Amino acid sequence: MIKILMQCESCRGVFEVSNSFFNGKDTPRFCTFCGKDKLIVLKENDYSRQSTIELTLDQSATLSTFLLMTTKYREGELEACRELGKELDENGNIKYPNIVANAKWWEGAISIIEEIQELL
Ligand SMILES: [Zn+2]
Repeated sequence: MIKILMQCESCRGVFEVSNSFFNGKDTPRFCTFCGKDKLIVLKENDYSRQSTIELTLDQSATLSTFLLMTTKYREGELEACRELGKELDENGNIKYPNIVANAKWWEGAISIIEEIQELL
């Protein structure tokens, strides 16, 4: 899987898209936060190959503590995205479809972070 980290030059928002999200063709054109056409690619990662990284005990302990300290932040972001994703416009359509995608991203990220926490 290829994941691309994108940033909006207008609102500075950063988000990640995977090739399943954009069907392996073009990256999204519009910012998921402000909707503007000002996206740049920050980084592209190919996760189709497996690799291993090593951390020192100090790095591992610091990362473990940091992930623990920021748990509430991640839960808050997921909850906020879920709540905004429920809002409908006057036609009964989802008002912020990008926020629904963001909630899915947070679900995936929280699950991966929990896997990392098991390893640390
Ligand atoms: Zn933006």
